[in-house]
Amino acid sequence: NFAPDLSWEDLKLNSDGMVPVIVQDYRTDEVLMLAYMNKEAFDTTINLGKMTYWSRSRDELWTKGLTSGHFQYVKSLTADCDFDTILAKVSQVGAACHTGNRTCFFNSIVQKEYVEKNPLKVLESVYDIIKERKAHPQDGSYTNYLFGKGTDKILQKLGEECTEIVIAAKNPEPENIKYEISDFLYHCMVLMVEKGITWEEIANELAQR
Ligand code: AMP
Ligand code: ZN
Ligand code: ZN
Ligand code: ZN
Repeated sequence: NFAPDLSWEDLKLNSDGMVPVIVQDYRTDEVLMLAYMNKEAFDTTINLGKMTYWSRSRDELWTKGLTSGHFQYVKSLTADCDFDTILAKVSQVGAACHTGNRTCFFNSIVQKEYVEKNPLKVLESVYDIIKERKAHPQDGSYTNYLFGKGTDKILQKLGEECTEIVIAAKNPEPENIKYEISDFLYHCMVLMVEKGITWEEIANELAQR
């Protein structure tokens, strides 16, 4: 129970008399869900310290977690610049989504790779594509050429690429080294797929050393 800095009357309501609430994990900033509050839900949230919404589908007051146990304890409520949206930071018990997923947002519409934020994601993407090629070969694919020739060919290429890294690194201007390391990692991943080894296994092994 705490005294709010703003009251319901300070907020700008939508045409249904409600305010959308964006719900975020207070520790990780992960966006968990979006729901709506009316005045009753807003007051209840502040009194209980648990996120309470107005369920538009059931047309009733809804304290999130009452049936699932997946309560959301309020850490902060903040209105946006024009007072028509609330951002809630919460301590989420269990999953925010009724599907059991931690967040409601998991249905991809478009995905661009954000290499600058997480450079190593590209390793997983390339690995997935190699695996996909193995399952469904494509005409003219170099990856399928390697799989077709078999393990010895993959190992021979891996050895060559390894040597090329050494040569590039010895060069006084080693600008080619990134190409050679990329070639090497690609062929490593072809071998991993051929042998059924995942990045998770490699990461686990490295982490425990
Ligand atoms: P709960 O409040 O978690 O006990 O869930 C009660 C009901 O609310 C569920 O059976 C769903 O119908 C609905 N519900 C729960 N979580 C969500 C959510 N994140 N988004 C939409 N509906 C939800
Ligand atoms: Zn603004
Ligand atoms: Zn706004
Ligand atoms: Zn959901």
